[in-house]
Amino acid sequence: MIISAPSGAGKTSICYEVLRRIDDAEYSVSLTTRERREKERDGVDYHFVAPEEFEAMVDRGELAEWAEVHDAHYGTLKAKLSGAVERGKVVILDIDGQGARSLKKSYPDSVLIFIFPPSPAELADRLAGRGTEGQESMKARLEAAPQEVENVELYDYVVVNENFEDSVQKIVHIIEAERSALERMRTFIDRYSAEFSGREEGAEK
Ligand code: 5GP
Repeated sequence: MIISAPSGAGKTSICYEVLRRIDDAEYSVSLTTRERREKERDGVDYHFVAPEEFEAMVDRGELAEWAEVHDAHYGTLKAKLSGAVERGKVVILDIDGQGARSLKKSYPDSVLIFIFPPSPAELADRLAGRGTEGQESMKARLEAAPQEVENVELYDYVVVNENFEDSVQKIVHIIEAERSALERMRTFIDRYSAEFSGREEGAEK
């Protein structure tokens, strides 16, 4: 599940609450070269790395995708992502449009959700109210928002974050519905059919 939004749309807190409510969901902790914010924990919110370390990981092919966002580098660790997918986990990624586009290519069955703040004016207010960014960074984030919104055509679902609880519920419902999609139920259906054929063969004997 790839969740993207312009900075300040409320995505991070929504993602954490969704994770709390979905069994066997895992958060994909990204790498970043940006400065750690006061409330962030290394290894939980992000893996904070030096630009040289990030570059070395890119060179060694350890990232499933990476992008430059607001003058910093962000990336998804290949090993962690494929490990979680193989274990049948719902992996939640909070990444931008560039990352969403490239991961959709390597994982065609990924589901993309875009969160909109209710209006551009509200986005600016939220970003200012968050108080985590300096003037420059806030300006860059606001300027990037229209470009991020243009990417929306890539996504499968759109959630307008008018209200935190409603948005969380919508995303939980999307995840649950997607888990019941025919293609994701293939293993169950095949096992069910095999058991049926076994019973019929037994009855014939
Ligand atoms: P922030 O600095 O506000 O935490 O994140 C800035 C932007 O980087 C957000 O749009 C976020 O979704 C994106 N981002 C975070 N991690 C990754 C990642 O691993 N890959 C990509 N492509 N974008 C990411």
